[in-house]
Amino acid sequence: MTRLVGKTALITGAARGIGLAFAKAYAAEGARVALADIDGARVQAAAAEIGEAALAIEMDVTNQQSIDAAVAKTASHFGPIDILINNAAIFTAAPMVEIERADYNRVFDINVSGALFTMQAVARHMIEHGTKGRIINMASQAGRRGEPLVAVYCASKAAIISLTQSAGLNLIQHGINVNAIAPGVVDGEHWDGVDAFFAKHEGKEPGQKKREVAAAVPHGRMGRAEDLTGMAVFLASDEAQYIVAQTYNVDGGNWMS
Ligand code: NAD
Repeated sequence: MTRLVGKTALITGAARGIGLAFAKAYAAEGARVALADIDGARVQAAAAEIGEAALAIEMDVTNQQSIDAAVAKTASHFGPIDILINNAAIFTAAPMVEIERADYNRVFDINVSGALFTMQAVARHMIEHGTKGRIINMASQAGRRGEPLVAVYCASKAAIISLTQSAGLNLIQHGINVNAIAPGVVDGEHWDGVDAFFAKHEGKEPGQKKREVAAAVPHGRMGRAEDLTGMAVFLASDEAQYIVAQTYNVDGGNWMS
C-alpha cells in the first residue's frame, strides 16, 4: 500500500460516494489528499475521517475563482499537485419532451465545464511546477450509449470521454497523462434521486428500479465505490505512465450487456 507515497492529489466531489472512496484509497496508498466539494460541512467531516493526510476544501467547480482557490490551497498545504480526480457531477433525468434548458445548463456547467476548467487550472499548475502529473476524469457507461430518459446526463458523460481524448493527446507533451474511468451502476446516495425519478416516471415502487438495474448487471450485483478504487490508484501510479487519453470501463460487464 505504498504506490502513491509522496504524491499530492486533489479530488473534487469528495464529500461522499465515489470521490470519498477514492480519497480514502489514495491516503491508504500514502498520498496526501485534498477533498474538495460544494458541501462544506460534509467535506470537513469526510477529511476528518481520513486524518492528517487529508485537507477539506469547500469548492464549487462552476466558479473559476473557487477552482483557482482550491488549486492554490492544496499546493500551499501539501506542495505541488501530482494528481487530479475530476469527480464532481450531478445526475438528472427527464423525458425528451420535458427537458428544461436551465437543467441542461446546470448539468453541463457542473459535469462538463467544471471538469474542463478544473483540468485546465491543474494542468497549468502542473506545467508551471514541472510535475509529470496525472488527471483522471469520471465518465460513465452513460457516456457510451444513450438511455431513453437520461439524455442530458448521458451527453455530459460522452463529453467527458471526448475531453479526455483531446486533453490527453494535448497534455502528454508536458508529461501529464489524462485518462478516465467509466463506471457502470454504483450504489450510493446518488441512487436516492434516481430511484425517486423512476418511481415518478415509470410508476416503480421505491427501490424497484435499483433492484432491476442490479439484476441486469452481468457480474450479478451493483457496483460499490470500492470496486473503482483499484483503477483510480493504478491510473495514478508509475505503472500507468504509458497510458494516454483512454477511458476504462469498470462496470461488472454492464456496458457489454
Ligand atoms: P454523488 O452524487 O454521491 O457525489 C457527488 C459529489 O459532488 C457530492 O458530494 C456533491 O456535493 C459534489 N458536487 C456536486 N456539485 C458540485 C459542484 N458544483 N462543485 C463541487 N462539488 C460538487 O456521486 P457519485 O455516485 O459518488 O458519483 C461520482 C462520480 O462518478 C460522478 O462523476 C458520477 O457522474 C460518476 N458516476 C457515478 C455512477 C453511479 O452509479 N453512482 C455511475 C457512473 C458514473
